[in-house]
Amino acid sequence: MTERRTRCEDHGGYGGAIASRARLLVGLSAPWSGLLALALVAGCLSVLPAEAADTPHPRDKPAEDAVDNPPALPEPAPAEKPAGKPAEKPRDKPLPLGSAAPTPEPAPEAEATKPEAASSCLGDLRARGAKVVARPDAVTQARCGVEEPVELSSMGAVLFDPAPILACDTARKVADFVSGTLSELASKHYGTGISTIRVAGAYECRGRNRQPGARLSEHAFGRALDMRGVTLADGGNFSVLPRADKDMTVDARFQRAVRKAACGPFTTVLGPGSDAYHDDHMHFDTKPRRSPYCR
Ligand SMILES: [Zn+2]
Repeated sequence: MTERRTRCEDHGGYGGAIASRARLLVGLSAPWSGLLALALVAGCLSVLPAEAADTPHPRDKPAEDAVDNPPALPEPAPAEKPAGKPAEKPRDKPLPLGSAAPTPEPAPEAEATKPEAASSCLGDLRARGAKVVARPDAVTQARCGVEEPVELSSMGAVLFDPAPILACDTARKVADFVSGTLSELASKHYGTGISTIRVAGAYECRGRNRQPGARLSEHAFGRALDMRGVTLADGGNFSVLPRADKDMTVDARFQRAVRKAACGPFTTVLGPGSDAYHDDHMHFDTKPRRSPYCR
């Protein structure tokens, strides 16, 4: 059987070859040997199933491949992914927008610029010749609040007496006005500069016009400065007083000119004639408004 199996494997069971082999082994005549050959071939073929049983291994491999295919099935899933990917891609696109996450970064930068802007306010003032210091300690009452409170002692050669506590941005506007427009008007009307701004008030946690129950004044936010008058470089004095429109004295003309020029740089300008509370000083503030309020 071993030999026969070997024949079958080596020669594929050719009938003619097996018949001739049978004749040699058994010594039968041709007719009988033919029948024997058929029987051998049949036996050989019957052995094949056993071999086929061995071959199934290669078939098992395909089965394993099929097992491997299942992972290949996930591949069709990847085929689904392309469909899913487009959906994810739009999500990825927002990610590139996320890469615009540098956008959120600008926000942190904006936040960073706030403290920088705050310090730049002081820096600006000092660069322009102001003597100014931060005074966060000057604002302690909870109902009032001042954005970056500072104490402005002087602007160039002009002193503030007493030094007002103001929000830094308002202090900058005051400093600009004093060193610019106000000094120019003093020079034009008096032929000299200003040595001192006589201050009647600045930051103060109170209601408007000091009235009980009144809404908070701009003074409560450090956005207002009350000017009683100015001392000129030549020693002269100008004081804010009620003056008739017909009054053509230099003090009257200077007072009208200052009030007019201040309207714009400051959003609120009040003085003598506005009401009973402003006969002895001019009130300048930087209250946020759509248009200045001056009267
Ligand atoms: Zn005031």
